[in-house]
Amino acid sequence: MTRLEVSAEAGPTMSNQPDLSSEKAIASFHERLKERGLKSTAQRDDIARVFFQLGRHISAEELYAEVKKVNPHVGYATIYRTLKLLKECELVYERHFDDAQARYEIVTKRHHDHFICERCGKIIEFENERIEHLQEIVAQELGVALTRHKMELYGLCSDCRDRRPS
Ligand SMILES: [Zn+2]
Ligand SMILES: [Zn+2]
Repeated sequence: MTRLEVSAEAGPTMSNQPDLSSEKAIASFHERLKERGLKSTAQRDDIARVFFQLGRHISAEELYAEVKKVNPHVGYATIYRTLKLLKECELVYERHFDDAQARYEIVTKRHHDHFICERCGKIIEFENERIEHLQEIVAQELGVALTRHKMELYGLCSDCRDRRPS
């Protein structure tokens, strides 16, 4: 069977790791704001920094809770507007999994797909060359040109699968 290569496993509340790449991301945020004639503000920077440190699949509400710990003055509306700005700057993807809540993740050069646990909400990223290749074959058969795809697998993660129903 197809083996899934798990490239990252991160729940919505990932641990804070000191991360040089988040400072690089902040720098490109500043650059792109400048291109748009916008200024960076301390609040925007706080939000962006927390987001880049957390990394992946975070909802606006989860981000709000995390930013509050760093800067209690930041309001939810500013969180929302900053995420929108990061999206416009093409630094952040907005994803919609089955729970209808928008989740945000850093734009990575590498394409990946997602497994979502229906019990605990854990999101596991994977890459699988065979799945990617099969999609090309389907496209050829249909005579279409693919521009993008979304592959989402749903089920129980290994932790939840092993847990006995209470
Ligand atoms: Zn689970
Ligand atoms: Zn992802």
